[in-house]
Amino acid sequence: MKEQLYTIPLMDAFRAGDECPFCYIERDVEQNAMDFVLGPQASYMQDHVRAETDKMGFCREHYQKMFAYGETLANALILDTRLQLLLKEMKKEIKNYSNLAKFGMMDKLKKDTDSAKGSNNVSRWICEKEESCYICNHIKRNYERYIATFFYLYKKGDKDFIQLVKNGKGLCLHHLADILDAAPLYLNDKEQKSLRGILFPQMEANLERLLEEVDWLEKKFDYRYKDDDWKNSRDAVQRAMQKIVGGYPADAPYRGK
Ligand SMILES: [Zn+2]
Ligand SMILES: [Zn+2]
Repeated sequence: MKEQLYTIPLMDAFRAGDECPFCYIERDVEQNAMDFVLGPQASYMQDHVRAETDKMGFCREHYQKMFAYGETLANALILDTRLQLLLKEMKKEIKNYSNLAKFGMMDKLKKDTDSAKGSNNVSRWICEKEESCYICNHIKRNYERYIATFFYLYKKGDKDFIQLVKNGKGLCLHHLADILDAAPLYLNDKEQKSLRGILFPQMEANLERLLEEVDWLEKKFDYRYKDDDWKNSRDAVQRAMQKIVGGYPADAPYRGK
C-alpha cells in the first residue's frame, strides 16, 4: 500500500467533537470498505477483488453488516465463490484429519475446551478462516496510516492540530491503548511524556464528565427531576459505552452513502 498521510481527514475527525476521533475514523473507513465491497461501483464483479474476498472471507461482525447493507445479489455472488473455495479446502482437510494433541486425564476431566482448541487440523483450519476478514484487514491498514499521521502532526508540533487535540474530548479507552502502544515507535521519551501530559488529564476529566452525564440521565427517571433540563445526558448511554470500548452502539445499520 502506498505510504500516505491522512492529514485532512484526521483533522476533520478531531473537529467533529466526538467522544473519540479514532472511532470516527474507524467508522468512516469501515463504511468506505462496505461501499467498496457491495456498493454501486460493483467491485465484486472485478476478478482481482473477488479473488481477494474469496481468499480472505469476512468475520462474523462484517457478514452481519454486509447482510444489513442489503445488496442481496452482490452478497450472493460473493458467497458463491467463497463457498466454492471453502468446500474445496474443507474436503482436503477432512480427508487428512489428524488429532495431534495428547491430553492428560486431568484435561479430559476438566473438559477444558480452550486447551483442546486447534488440536486437530480441521479445527485449526476453521480458526484460520475465522481470523481472516477482508474488511477488518482494510480497516487495519488504513487505521495504521491514521495513527502514523497523528504522530507525524504531533511530532512536527503542528499548532492547529495540537490545539484540536487539546480542545477535544479525549479518546475512547480502546483507542487510547493503541496510541500509548504506538507512541514509542514515533516519539522520543520527552515527546511521549508531553503527549501523556495532554491525554491523561483529558481522559480523567472526560470520564468524570461522562459519569456526571450518566448520573443526570438516571435522575431524569426520578419524578422530582422530570421537568428539569436534560442537559447533555439524553444520549449519555451510547456515548459512555463508546468511551469504554469504542464504536457507535446507537448507529442504525449502514446501507450505503
Ligand atoms: Zn475510539
Ligand atoms: Zn471483519
